[in-house]
Amino acid sequence: MPDRSFLAWPFFEARHRDHAERLEQWCKQHLPVDHSDVDAACERLVAMLGRDGWLMPTAIDPDDPQPLDVRTLCITRETLARHDGLADFAFAMQGLGTGAISFFGDDPQKQWLKKTRSGEALSAFALSEPRSGSDVANMDMTARRDGADFVLDGEKTWISNAGIADLYVVFARTGEAPGAKGISCFLVPADTPGLEIAERIDVIAPHPMARLVFNDCRVPASAMIGKSGDGFRIAMSVLDVFRSTVGGAALGFARRALDESISRATSRELFGAPLFDLQMVQGHIADMALDVDAAALLVYRAAWTKDMGAARVTREAAMAKLYATDRAQSVIDKAVQLHGGDGVRKGHIVESLYREIRALRIYEGASDVQKVVIARQVMGGTA
Ligand SMILES: Cc1cc2nc3c(=O)[nH]c(=O)nc-3n(C[C@H](O)[C@H](O)[C@H](O)COP(=O)(O)OP(=O)(O)OC[C@H]3O[C@@H](n4cnc5c(N)ncnc54)[C@H](O)[C@@H]3O)c2cc1C
Repeated sequence: MPDRSFLAWPFFEARHRDHAERLEQWCKQHLPVDHSDVDAACERLVAMLGRDGWLMPTAIDPDDPQPLDVRTLCITRETLARHDGLADFAFAMQGLGTGAISFFGDDPQKQWLKKTRSGEALSAFALSEPRSGSDVANMDMTARRDGADFVLDGEKTWISNAGIADLYVVFARTGEAPGAKGISCFLVPADTPGLEIAERIDVIAPHPMARLVFNDCRVPASAMIGKSGDGFRIAMSVLDVFRSTVGGAALGFARRALDESISRATSRELFGAPLFDLQMVQGHIADMALDVDAAALLVYRAAWTKDMGAARVTREAAMAKLYATDRAQSVIDKAVQLHGGDGVRKGHIVESLYREIRALRIYEGASDVQKVVIARQVMGGTA
């Protein structure tokens, strides 16, 4: 039985507790889904989540724009991740892929949000390139003005949802200034001529992912999201909101690992008594519970701070993501250990958690980058 006592913390309001309870019931009924075809599974998950209203918090309502509620995003990711990593992925991408539109889009661009919030359209966030993952400001992809259009040329890689997305939010160099100040952001529908899926990428916790090539890909000037040259700032603002939610997902994986470990330690007999009677095992369980609670405090502190109106939560979000993903890795590793051989048996839940958690320390800013961000913040600089 997962520990839900954190929902009584003062970070939350009654609507969050109600959301968590209803979502838990929904997950018990519908998850996990069959992952054998990840593209089909993600399309199905988005359709199911959209049909039952769970995607609404991922983007603003164009008819009644209110700020995104980061606590709801984190609770949702935590709950979905505890039941099915792919369900968390499907939910998360609807938010990350449309964040730039929610925060900086104009009215016609925001019409897309009706479809992504209802599960009728899937979205992707295309920032990383082969030469510039962590070093985002060094991107090569260009967007050249040509009359009433922009022409996009270059590559994006590691793009989640690539191949099944209906729209891509793409960052490209428009050259107003060198480095970070010369990048703009564009909304590119998947069927735009010149946008191609160049290579599918398989990762240890499979989900739809590919390298994209843009070859003379022409979009109208109205496809630009926000102002020319503001792309880097837009990308960082989106990550500022969604980074805490990566911590939420890590928390979900860690809680599941803890629950599985408690269940294993109490049901498995060794040396004539339950595994749990061994004090070293109790020590592991205590460390895991401590890591989970400490991570939850940082994640929900970041989410609450943003929801209370902070313009930026760079420090809080970096701490939440860094700590929650790092500690979840440790919790899950202990869970594998406590499960013995079953912990590495293909298809066992802790084996899949072991694979699921790893990428969270790399994407949306690697752990090392988060440390740099935190150090700069505590030194009083900007990150
Ligand atoms: C599963 C997965 C999903 C992804 N989804 C998307 C997506 O949807 N959209 C998208 O645009 N991108 C996506 N990415 C890309 C991801 O954001 C990049 O992989 C990440 O930014 C790291 O870039 P890189 O792989 O080029 O590694 P590099 O930039 O080469 O970094 C390698 C390592 O160097 C170290 N390092 C880097 N910078 C510093 C620093 N400043 N100080 C100290 N150490 C440092 C870190 O250990 C880092 O892991 C995804 C990646 C993965 C693995």
